Amino acid sequence: MDEKKVREAIEALKYINLKSVHPFYDWEEMMEVRDTAIEALEKQLAKKPEMRTAYNDFVGRLICYKGFCPSCGGVVESYRNESCHHCTQVLDWSE
Ligand SMILES: [Zn+2]
Repeated sequence: MDEKKVREAIEALKYINLKSVHPFYDWEEMMEVRDTAIEALEKQLAKKPEMRTAYNDFVGRLICYKGFCPSCGGVVESYRNESCHHCTQVLDWSE
């Protein structure tokens, strides 16, 4: 997903007046829907895993990185996790 568009969508959702979009919806419910949408979009913005650790083979070649998801704290591994399999946070394994 295009990072710039995601950031713009998050900002737009934060400031949109949902009451004027549809005055008959339950206000609290619409705010909850909006917050859920913002939370899901924010997970599309790649974040670096915490405590990234390199695992090398016996001649020093990189096998993979392991670390913790910055959103939920779950264990993630670079060889199979482009996004966290616990919470769907997109991960950036670069330095
Ligand atoms: Zn996670």
